[in-house]
Amino acid sequence: MKHENTLAYAQQQDAQDPMAGYREQFHHPVIDGKQVLYFTGNSLGLQPKSAREYVNKELDEWAKLGVEGHFIAENPWVSYHELLTPASARLVGAKESEVVCMGSLTNNLHLLFVSFYKPTAKRFKIISEAKMFPSDRYLLETQARHHGFNPDEAIIEIAPRDGEYLIHEDDIIAAIEEHSDELALVFFGGMNYFTGQLFDMEKLTKTAHQHGALAGFDLAHAAGNVPLEMHKWNVDFAAWCTYKYINSSAGNVAGLFVHERHGDDTSINRFGGWWGHNKERRFLMENTFDPMKGAEGWQLSNAPVMGMAILRASLDIFDEAGIHNLRAKSLKLTSYLEFIFNDVVQQFPDIKLEIITPSNPEQRGAQLSIKLIGTDKSFFDQLTKAGVISDFRSPDVIRLAPAPLYNSFEDVYQFGNTLHSLLSQWR
Ligand SMILES: *Cc1c(COP(=O)(O)O)cnc(C)c1O
Repeated sequence: MKHENTLAYAQQQDAQDPMAGYREQFHHPVIDGKQVLYFTGNSLGLQPKSAREYVNKELDEWAKLGVEGHFIAENPWVSYHELLTPASARLVGAKESEVVCMGSLTNNLHLLFVSFYKPTAKRFKIISEAKMFPSDRYLLETQARHHGFNPDEAIIEIAPRDGEYLIHEDDIIAAIEEHSDELALVFFGGMNYFTGQLFDMEKLTKTAHQHGALAGFDLAHAAGNVPLEMHKWNVDFAAWCTYKYINSSAGNVAGLFVHERHGDDTSINRFGGWWGHNKERRFLMENTFDPMKGAEGWQLSNAPVMGMAILRASLDIFDEAGIHNLRAKSLKLTSYLEFIFNDVVQQFPDIKLEIITPSNPEQRGAQLSIKLIGTDKSFFDQLTKAGVISDFRSPDVIRLAPAPLYNSFEDVYQFGNTLHSLLSQWR
């Protein structure tokens, strides 16, 4: 893609962008009286303006109906979570029966591990990426311990090669082959939160299966960011949060995928709760757990309707925009950010800032991670002070995520201006 570092070019791109109108459907933060450039949708997405209306609707129903809202509200709360299923299934590429919105991400992963990490004395190893998101790493560590294994032996971490930032998929495949007989699970972030590297989940799943292991993914950074095909790729299980690219508010309800070949098997071991129990008989208050077929059979508790109302507002926007249309814009927008960044930085040869995210657009989404070399966190602090909201990951990486729903080409151009004036004054 050929780009230009000019306001006219950026504005022309915005004028031609079929997704541009969605920007107005979100609240854009104003901090210290200044409208900021928001590039942190990979951490907390912006608020859809429609969210308030969706929540108010349920607050009104609650005020009016009390407990009766469970059954006679316009969207009865007893089945409210079902309203989220079709759009969620489209986002991750699944059948509706394979998806449910429930719980929170790390909770859901632990529940899925109960069913899908069943180590034996011989097969107990988990292959995952080095420098995983800490919560996922704690998940693996405590799951291994829970089953009586030493995490240092059970967890095989695949790291980038010396002096590199990204993981070679060949190295993952080689490790799967090497540990084949002892392997229980391949578990990766579908997209690495730190570098923004998107993994070939289909290939990893296929290889895991060839070696008698299962494959699961944390889609925190992939869901709502890139199109996914969980069902077609034959992934065994996955979970994601909805407050990053899916814009549902901090800590809101998460999502879970179980492939139908497992979901249809109600004999699979799991931890039970009444919301996973046979829907028809849930209120008969019987003693014996009779799990529902499909992902819904992993639910524990009745659904948090207020949060789900916000998620519903957000998913309605995704459904209207279409994840493939958003991806088309995202490819252009991220490529523009890459261009602007490099164009500015090369004007300052003694300052080293380097993009560590894959340059191949197929291996990344809406995120560029920038490594600070010879500078430190004070650079990030200056960037924030200058009105660019990005995030800093210790020890030396800044992550910028231009979200195609609400970021514009002009945002990216303005970021370049800010970066330029910062670098001019640096040192
Ligand atoms: C954001 C994120 C989490 C957060 O977990 P919560 O349970 O939602 O607090 C976990 N894993 C990854 C990979 C993430 O990106």
